[in-house]
Amino acid sequence: MPELKDKKKYFRIKTNNFHNLIEKIRNLSFIPEICITNKCNQNCLFCSADANSPNCYIKEDKLENIKNTLRDLRRVSDRIKITGGEPTVRKDFLEIIKHAKKLGFKKIIIESNGQNFSVFSFAQKTVEAGANYFFISFHGPNAKLQDSLTQSVSSFLRTKQGIINLKKLNQEVNINVVINAKNYKSLPKMIVLLNKLKVNSITLSFIIVSGKAEQNKKIIPKMTEVLPYLKKAVSAAVVRIRITHFPFCLLGELNKYNTWIKIQGKTIIDNPNFIITIEPKDMHDRKSESCKKCRYDKICFGLREGYVALYGFDELKPVAGPKIKDFETYYAQNIL
Ligand code: SF4
Repeated sequence: MPELKDKKKYFRIKTNNFHNLIEKIRNLSFIPEICITNKCNQNCLFCSADANSPNCYIKEDKLENIKNTLRDLRRVSDRIKITGGEPTVRKDFLEIIKHAKKLGFKKIIIESNGQNFSVFSFAQKTVEAGANYFFISFHGPNAKLQDSLTQSVSSFLRTKQGIINLKKLNQEVNINVVINAKNYKSLPKMIVLLNKLKVNSITLSFIIVSGKAEQNKKIIPKMTEVLPYLKKAVSAAVVRIRITHFPFCLLGELNKYNTWIKIQGKTIIDNPNFIITIEPKDMHDRKSESCKKCRYDKICFGLREGYVALYGFDELKPVAGPKIKDFETYYAQNIL
């Protein structure tokens, strides 16, 4: 297993030793994640996990270890997100969900590209096993675009059918669209399609420069070029929208959809080795000197470091006004 590049910067805490920390954040919609495989049936140009690369550090753990981790995570949350790679390709996928249900998780979220749910019986078995919320990646409004981004023939048709099947089974379906250089002009059309599919909500996530995107930098657009299309897309939506990985100063009125907000300077992540890690403040996030003058400074992540290496800080425009102390103030006052 190759080393994590920034391993020294991580503090590792075994899952049964972090209760105090979790206690502080458990009311803040903390949802632990468990990554059950590195395998994937797609090969997306922007995969941040780079799931199909032989150098990938993600691994597939034994069922028994996964069950133990689920048990630990159940002590701190009654919600769990099961992710990958593509979790549905794992042979014991249904058994893992059944075990999560047996442990008493009330919300069992499956993060998936949705292709395997195009087989109705599989979608049905997944729901019967206990899954009750689906976070589906879908990036293009037609086969040409979606299949070229996922490098998987028929992924458009299969994912679309998967969503239709999950909706037939009365499931809550949230769509994650990764905004990249190939699809940003199609965002309004994407929203029209998703409206028709009657999904419950849509997350529009700016691409992260890591994994495959690092080798394929043409896939990273400038944020300011994306914004007019993002605005059109949001105005076309009839369902709940979330926007992530853009700084506050660029989003303006769209900040009411912004879910990328710094919580007390730390981000809690669950790495693929099933150990909760705390990402030290600002590990991958970069601010310009002028950010210190901005009212959003304390709750804003700024830009990811890979993006800064490509485009610098020129797009950032510090926002005048009283400083926002923390995320609680932001939420309480619904500041724009
Ligand atoms: S100027 Fe800096 S702190 Fe302010 S919103 Fe933009 S990136 Fe965030």
